[in-house]
Amino acid sequence: MKPVAFDYARPATVAAAVELLASANGSAKVIAGGQSLGPMLNLRLAQPGLLVDIRRIPGLNEVKSAPGGYLVGSCVTHAAIEDGEIPDFTRGFMRKVAAGIAYRAVRNRGTIGGSVCHADPAADWLTALTLLSAVAVIEGPGGRREMLMTEFVTGPFETRLEPGELLLGMRVPALSARSRWSYRKIQRKPGEFGEAIGAMLRDDDSGICRAVIGAASGPPRVIEDAGFLAGEWDRRRVHAALEEAGVADDAYRARLHGAALRRAAAELAA
Ligand SMILES: Cc1cc2nc3c(=O)[nH]c(=O)nc-3n(C[C@H](O)[C@H](O)[C@H](O)COP(=O)(O)OP(=O)(O)OC[C@H]3O[C@@H](n4cnc5c(N)ncnc54)[C@H](O)[C@@H]3O)c2cc1C
Repeated sequence: MKPVAFDYARPATVAAAVELLASANGSAKVIAGGQSLGPMLNLRLAQPGLLVDIRRIPGLNEVKSAPGGYLVGSCVTHAAIEDGEIPDFTRGFMRKVAAGIAYRAVRNRGTIGGSVCHADPAADWLTALTLLSAVAVIEGPGGRREMLMTEFVTGPFETRLEPGELLLGMRVPALSARSRWSYRKIQRKPGEFGEAIGAMLRDDDSGICRAVIGAASGPPRVIEDAGFLAGEWDRRRVHAALEEAGVADDAYRARLHGAALRRAAAELAA
């Protein structure tokens, strides 16, 4: 199938992009890397009247220092992160995550912002940025607003972005020198979305011991007090966490997610 006919614009500034999006009465869509939107256009799952291409807007491809960490522009590609073209303020974590997304051709074009806005529950950045307590920075006709990843993603393929709004980037806290992380993705073969993701972050300086269950039914599930995963495997508490993530009903999925979490806990302890 082919996409429906649409207009195409390549604004030079964020303000011009917001104006175009806002004036289209909800019929415009942002295009970044096109790795998710492209197939949706071809299948006519998306039928926009206007595509607003944001890839050449200066600043959106950059990473700038921000209070407590860095602002990663929404058009930074998975490949740029994988290749270490951005400062390593997460002690190798973002680099590892980026390298495990899809395959190189997709990583060359796919962007961190596109991934977050598409909000596929299985997307790696959803889990990774939730683990890091990243903040979405949004620009729209009403000005700028910010919200935690846990608020930004509301359901499968659903976010709090309003028509006319654009994700400028993700503000990601820098990890301290004593922090440790683990990230385990269970997938049928390399290059595919994960069927289950377990991720953990421990920072003794700030007292954080957090785990995230990703690739679940909806937004990633955060376990803030995840210290119990480090000790003897507590089936009851793990099952309760899987229930909250909405993956406990199906025995196969529950086992996969339990295994991802267990591997993440073991990797963190190693
Ligand atoms: C074969 C294949 C395998 C894949 N495997 C994985 C995988 O293992 N893990 C994984 O995480 N992902 C995977 N992906 C998805 C990939 O990471 C995409 O790059 C990503 O989901 C979308 O990024 P994009 O820049 O291409 O966004 P686009 O396709 O351009 O846009 C996606 C959506 O986000 C919106 N959007 C984009 N940017 C903005 C913005 N700044 N502000 C507001 N809205 C915006 C668009 O309007 C659209 O609705 C895979 C994709 C393919 C094709």
